[in-house]
Amino acid sequence: LAYLDYNATAPVRPEARQAALAAMSTVGNASSTHRSGRDAADRVDLARRQVADLLNCSHGEIVFTSGATEANNLALRAAFAAGGQLVTSAVEHPAVLETAKAITAELPQALTVLSVDVDGLVDLEALHEALAAGNVAVVSLMAANNETGVLTDLAPVVKAAHDAGALVHTDATQLVGRLPINLTETDVDLLSLSAHKFGGPQGVGALFVRRGAALPYRPLLFGGGQERGWRAGTLNVAGIAGAGAAAEAARHGMAAEVPRITRLRDSLENALVEQIGDCRVNGAVDRRLPGVSSITFHRAPADAILASMPDVAASDGSACSSGAPTPSHVLLAMGRSREDADSTVRFSLGYATTAEDIDRAVASTVRAVHHVRGTLASAT
Ligand code: PMP
Repeated sequence: LAYLDYNATAPVRPEARQAALAAMSTVGNASSTHRSGRDAADRVDLARRQVADLLNCSHGEIVFTSGATEANNLALRAAFAAGGQLVTSAVEHPAVLETAKAITAELPQALTVLSVDVDGLVDLEALHEALAAGNVAVVSLMAANNETGVLTDLAPVVKAAHDAGALVHTDATQLVGRLPINLTETDVDLLSLSAHKFGGPQGVGALFVRRGAALPYRPLLFGGGQERGWRAGTLNVAGIAGAGAAAEAARHGMAAEVPRITRLRDSLENALVEQIGDCRVNGAVDRRLPGVSSITFHRAPADAILASMPDVAASDGSACSSGAPTPSHVLLAMGRSREDADSTVRFSLGYATTAEDIDRAVASTVRAVHHVRGTLASAT
């Protein structure tokens, strides 16, 4: 199987599996003061430093969660706790969009959803207008889009938001571990990540909370006060240890992986566009994650394409919403028709993708699209 669905989840890195298994093979609650407890706490400490190193922040700024969904919920609920305006974009992951809608349900005028252009880039003019209107509590814009890979230039967003007294949250789930991010330079207040996107286990993530950020204290989970009160509950030591080891491996591998994955993605994309024709690559091509290619194959529904190539794991829309009959809100926001959205396949590559995977994916996709187009043409 050519696994090209890293934006849904990445294979667990050997380092992460080993760290998680080692943690699971010992007993101890990270909150206990005896030796077993300290061993668990040491594993969590190490992982906290490893994740912080990947982001270039301090380990005291990391709150471990069950994933990016929880991190996004925690960030937005806390930042919006005192009211004001919440500004986000039309192409965010549902973990941000649905949270934003839920917490402003009683005050719909408190939510501003910025539009994007045909390339998927957020309308900065509209951001400035929303900030000028006053009283913005938080601006939440994703660092990289899960469907198209389009990157947000966070520096001007942070500057404008901070000038207006607003906090900045970024859902960096798809960026962390794939491209460098330096939180001493990128001055966001809150950042969400999920370990399984960069080779850690599923079900573990983190929220970065900048020290000194004017964030009202509002945990989602109350209880034993773990994670400095931000997230009560016995820590998932094995998952966290795996996340830390994956973060370290991703950090060490990145300088070599970024150009390698970019080359593989470009060769996949170029071959498909050349050999298939009547297709369109979605999103700002030179402002994308290295490993993502979203391609609309006109006159060929994506579900039929994927069903015709069982030896390739790719995605129609995002994994979180596939199976649901709704078209991609990301592509619709970029002005694509419903038909185009339904004819779009997302290939996403990562650290273990090989040239053989790409060769296989090209051959199978070319065959599948021609087959689907042929079947449709003969049916009409
Ligand atoms: N944000 C983005 C951009 C994502 O791609 C995902 C995963 N599809 C999430 C949030 C949610 O992550 P998790 O399912 O690990 O909570």
